[in-house]
Amino acid sequence: MEDAIRSAVGVNSRGVRSGTAGTATDFTRAVRGKQGAPSGDVLHYPSRSATGISLRQFAILVNRNNKPPLYLDEKDAVDRFLTGIANTRAIALDTEGASFHRFIDRIYLLQLSTREASAILDPLTIGVPDGLGALLEARKVEVVFHDADYDLRLLHQDYGWRVTNIFDTRVAAQLLGIRAFGLAALLERFFGVKLDKKHQRADWSMRPLTQGMLEYAAQDTEHLLDLRDRLGHDLEKLGRSGWAAEEFARLEGTRWESEDDREAFLRLKGARDLTRRQLALLRELVTWRDDLARTLDRATFRVVSNETLLEIARGAPANRATLGAVKGMPRGILESRASEVLAAVERGRAVPENALPRFPRAQRWERDADFDDVVARLKSVRDEAAERLDLDPGVLCARERLELVARRRPASVEQLSEIRELRTWQIEVLGQGFVRAIAKSGKALEAERARHGTNGES
Ligand SMILES: [Zn+2]
Repeated sequence: MEDAIRSAVGVNSRGVRSGTAGTATDFTRAVRGKQGAPSGDVLHYPSRSATGISLRQFAILVNRNNKPPLYLDEKDAVDRFLTGIANTRAIALDTEGASFHRFIDRIYLLQLSTREASAILDPLTIGVPDGLGALLEARKVEVVFHDADYDLRLLHQDYGWRVTNIFDTRVAAQLLGIRAFGLAALLERFFGVKLDKKHQRADWSMRPLTQGMLEYAAQDTEHLLDLRDRLGHDLEKLGRSGWAAEEFARLEGTRWESEDDREAFLRLKGARDLTRRQLALLRELVTWRDDLARTLDRATFRVVSNETLLEIARGAPANRATLGAVKGMPRGILESRASEVLAAVERGRAVPENALPRFPRAQRWERDADFDDVVARLKSVRDEAAERLDLDPGVLCARERLELVARRRPASVEQLSEIRELRTWQIEVLGQGFVRAIAKSGKALEAERARHGTNGES
């Protein structure tokens, strides 16, 4: 999946932006060339006439990189392919979900590349490819992703797989100080490869998939092992392989965290500007909308957008006519479900004063008088190191972690290393500086107290 999509597709209340979906009209299969393993008799090659691909297209497919995508939608073919790659030591993997189109995200496509072969597996027809799971969970096989997080969640949610021995090219690029770390930017930077972006927002849950969509999907893993090698080499040169290994180890076991859905409406953009009464309406409207989206398995914004729900919460329409006048109100919903929307508004209006929703207070902790001062000192240690290492400061150590350190005030590097959220490599780079900065702030505080003691409140 592309980074751009992931950022466009928000989390709950699955409030996603609108966009246009591609439509598929023809079903085609791509075949791969004979170069490299697995051998031809292991694989099932559909004949050209069976694919419906023109001779010209066929030639282009087979010639490109000698590794055109092999689309596998039959269990036997998948098993043969997986048998063919059983001894591989490295697999590049990507998944396509459909969170831009559906309420419940799941894996609609699996793309993988070894050093010799690429394939696209269609989980809608083959079911769970257990053989692939065994490879991904095997320690001896390195699994390469670009931005593993979301893929790992889906793989765990849908199949229960726990992928081990991970290499994430996004993380590697960030640890090298590369600011444009999207897959497309990296492939262009290192290999001059320009990724085609036209199917970025395609609906991967639809069938049949077009030739163009399959080729597009295949791009996501085709160059990933080469990219891994290049980034791995550069990490080694800079002495940062250990940093990367630590980050990759932490990715193991990534899974969905169930979030508190009852509070999701408070996170909608614009909710903070509502009165508490309007928030009560919004809560009912979001609950109604998300239930319907779940039933239809359609992305929430495709049912009614967040903006429109906010409009309804503000206007509190009492009848069909006023509801119909709300900006962005979809005609289809108005025709078939106006009474449901009006009932949600009514429920919001009926909430008693003392039960109206409110935003939770900002998180509090023991906040010393000079907390901000300590954070500022830690930040300058971090920024200086980031400059020296040519790293993005947020990659070197995020602000939340600086605040964690400021709260604990470790007196030694040993105490610092008890903070679980800090990586060993971060402590190596920043530990001494952090401890010194904290000690200084302590001294400054003592000195100030001493001054108060002598000059002050007599
Ligand atoms: Zn992808």
